[in-house]
Amino acid sequence: MTNPLLAPWTGPYGLPPFAEVRAEHFPVAFEAAMREHVGEIDALGASAAAPTFANTVAAFDRAGRLLDRVSALFYNLTSSETSPALQGVQREMAPLLAAHDSRVYTHAALFARIDALHEARDRIELDPEQRRVLERYHLDFVRAGAKLAAPAKARYAAIMQRLAELTTRFGQNVLADESDFRLVLKDEADLAGLPEFVRDAARQAARERGIADGAVITLSRSHIVPFLTFSERRDLRETAWRAWVSRGEHDGASDNRGVAAEILQLRLEQARLHGYSSYADFALGDTMARSQAAVTSLLEQVWRPACARAEEERTALAALALARGESGAIAPWDWRFYAEKVRQVRFDLDEAAVKPYFPLERMVAAAFDCAARLFGISFVARDDIAVYHPDVRVYEVHGAAGPIGLFLHDNFARPTKRSGAWMSSYRLQSRNGADDAGPVLPIIVNNNNFAKGAPGAPTLLSVDDARTLFHEFGHGLHGLLSNVTYERVSGTNVLRDFVELPSQLFEHWLEEPEVLKRHARHHETGAPIPDALIERLHRARHFNQGYETVRYAASALVDMAVHARTSAEPLDVVAFERAELERLGLPEAVGVNHRLVHFQHLFSGSSYAAGYYVYLWAEVLDADGFDAFVEAGDPFDPVVARRLARFIYSSGNSIEPGEAYRAFRGRAAGPEPMLRQRGLLDPVVA
Ligand SMILES: [Zn+2]
Repeated sequence: MTNPLLAPWTGPYGLPPFAEVRAEHFPVAFEAAMREHVGEIDALGASAAAPTFANTVAAFDRAGRLLDRVSALFYNLTSSETSPALQGVQREMAPLLAAHDSRVYTHAALFARIDALHEARDRIELDPEQRRVLERYHLDFVRAGAKLAAPAKARYAAIMQRLAELTTRFGQNVLADESDFRLVLKDEADLAGLPEFVRDAARQAARERGIADGAVITLSRSHIVPFLTFSERRDLRETAWRAWVSRGEHDGASDNRGVAAEILQLRLEQARLHGYSSYADFALGDTMARSQAAVTSLLEQVWRPACARAEEERTALAALALARGESGAIAPWDWRFYAEKVRQVRFDLDEAAVKPYFPLERMVAAAFDCAARLFGISFVARDDIAVYHPDVRVYEVHGAAGPIGLFLHDNFARPTKRSGAWMSSYRLQSRNGADDAGPVLPIIVNNNNFAKGAPGAPTLLSVDDARTLFHEFGHGLHGLLSNVTYERVSGTNVLRDFVELPSQLFEHWLEEPEVLKRHARHHETGAPIPDALIERLHRARHFNQGYETVRYAASALVDMAVHARTSAEPLDVVAFERAELERLGLPEAVGVNHRLVHFQHLFSGSSYAAGYYVYLWAEVLDADGFDAFVEAGDPFDPVVARRLARFIYSSGNSIEPGEAYRAFRGRAAGPEPMLRQRGLLDPVVA
């Protein structure tokens, strides 16, 4: 039997042979790919030649491409088209892959060569990108434990393996709770208040779950949020909300309480081995923010004004509830429902009347058009290329001089896909391919979880959904426009409090009236969105921002607090979270956004651990950054766009991020535009 994962991939752009790949191919392929990678780095470490950038750093950057290729395919599948068999392989492979990483990044002979080059970095000839790549790799080794003494190194590797097991389990547990849940709506009374688009999505979800004649609400955001927004049935809203916030907190196989506690304990030990007193300090050591104080100070700038704003919002909701002859007590499962009613009254905005202007296809075209006008690239559909699911659309991306990459757009929710929205890749851009085979073009994927329209009917997005589409597409552009030599600094391989800048910045173009007028067209008549509706959307943009900001900031503050602990005592995460939210004064009616027991940003991996603040950090940059276009008087100003492409979207991590931002903007960013963007600078109005 030949393993298709190990054979050459001859599909367009080197895409994997999706149709031939089975879960059982992965363990064998991983073994072979890890062996090959170890062989490569053993050879690098054993080289008799004196270390040079080319024979050590560039060669290391090129090593392990087979493993990269197999891993990228594997993790893309386990995220967006998983199966019990793949999940089994994931549990089996997670600790082995972590052990492999430790072996590579603590390889003594190889590190000695990198360390020697790093020592000599001021005396050897390096271009700015090479110097940055050398510094990044050196830091990668140090932060993986390369400088630790032997017993500590062994313990460190064991910690990383156990963490890999636990974070894998955490994510699988959340998915299990999400796909197990279904709220079946039996009759008209259960559907009370739901507009047609929510009913359509619920009927579609029922069909997908083999319920021929019914309607089902799932825990996918694009189901649950509209349900909480429109359902007149307070009892059902409460049921759905409780299921949503208790993901990961059920006795039995999918219980995440102990998993999260053990992850936290191991992270603290990991930080201590590096000489830090908390995991937050260790994690922040390699960020733009650098310190807990910088993060807390930013979060505190929004916390108080946002709480004050949320209290006003609650008063307005309670007044409306009383006017409807209902109790004025607002519970978390009531907030969205009454907020929608207040929004309708105050701004004459009805989500059901807005959605017909936001068909998915047109919003995708809008995103492509903005990219074309800013960056001169175009997207050509390649419906002839089949990938891992028939719903995924494939596009070839063209720049001025020909193709620059491939873009996979995977937009719909399904039970085999994890919740949320994200960008990932099958291959990163570089000019450091094997044997100088020429430039390596990126293969980028965007995942969303939109509720699919009924057969024959279009998928209509909410404004929030459209914003998510633009957000992920901004990350996608960061990968596609990458123009660097080395993979280590390619695309989104940037510091994590910089990574949300290209994505959040791109959201701004969706709000531009000329973009809306061109692309937001009624799905039946093709008529452009009326000016009056754009005006109302614009006036309503700060509406409910107290609620949104409090929810976000509370999650970011709890993340920071739980990772700032210096005690190794096992933690009751539920009690800790409750106490922390109480201490912060989270308004009860608002409720919590991500509970620790299902907070995948923190516990499905480590990249956002002590890092949920990064969205706000990047928002300081995106709000200030978009002002460059406002000041130029044109949202597509070509001069500003060229600087944006050069220093933000294509430079990856080849330039220090603060320096890259200043090169784009001509100065550093301040927080005022962010506060203005959230409506937190304006005087409070009832
Ligand atoms: Zn993002």
